[in-house]
Amino acid sequence: MDPPNPKALLSVRNVHKAFGQLHVLKDVSLDVMPGEVWVLLGPSGSGKSTLLRCMGELEEVSAGAIFLDGQLLGIEEVTPPAWKFWDRSAHLQKLPGAKRAEQRRAMGMVFQRFNLFPHMTACENVMCALRLVKKWDKEKAKAEALKQLEKVGLQDRVDHYPAQLSGGQQQRVAIARALAMDPELMLFDEPTSALDPELVGEVLAVMKELAEGGMTMVVVTHEIGFAKEVADRIAFMDEGQIVEVGNAEQVLSNPQHPRTKEFLSKVL
Ligand code: ADP
Ligand code: MG
Repeated sequence: MDPPNPKALLSVRNVHKAFGQLHVLKDVSLDVMPGEVWVLLGPSGSGKSTLLRCMGELEEVSAGAIFLDGQLLGIEEVTPPAWKFWDRSAHLQKLPGAKRAEQRRAMGMVFQRFNLFPHMTACENVMCALRLVKKWDKEKAKAEALKQLEKVGLQDRVDHYPAQLSGGQQQRVAIARALAMDPELMLFDEPTSALDPELVGEVLAVMKELAEGGMTMVVVTHEIGFAKEVADRIAFMDEGQIVEVGNAEQVLSNPQHPRTKEFLSKVL
């Protein structure tokens, strides 16, 4: 396995993921530098969500490794040059609970489905993890929740319940909830795919603002316009591999791989 890039916030190294006999990720490597926005493109079933879920520690990789700030995700630190001889099975001691929780908190995730608690207001949804995970008192958590809801343009919806909000507003609450935990990295998995077309723009606008504010982001999306405007790097995935990677100009305007060309001819 190759060593992680010491300057990267997130280093994915030779990652494989299998579900039983199904080999879903096949030797995926990439480096997300601080402040970069990556967009993952690719056909359905190519492994984009699986890769994102491995980054977010919702799945464990089958081989290879993922590093956040140079620290192996979920696993006790292994000092270089041990990388070269690294055998995952030999290092399956887990990180101490606190350290692992810290890594988890360093990443905010936003999914296609917003998963808000229906019996809690927008504000309570955002406060929830601050109270339970960070153990903040009510006042401090509320102040932070209001600040984050304002950031996503929902200052006049803080006391609304999810059912009283549009899909776009609910997704913005979900983004505010993730931001409240003060993540170093935000992972988005098709955050606008479940939305009515007229609501897509407001969510992309919030994400664009976040990117412009310097947030490091990995975004799975079919919104080519967003990719073109916001992505520093675009990776095109096909059958579990990154077959092409480059800036927006390179990948969208001058794709080299036949599968990228074919995919873009369908979505553009
Ligand atoms: P994408 O997000 O690019 O559409 P996914 O990462 O969701 O692709 O899926 C890639 C492949 O992995 C698909 O064949 C899918 O059926 C399979 N897969 C994803 N998650 C699981 C799982 N938990 N168990 C078994 N197979 C899975
Ligand atoms: Mg997916």
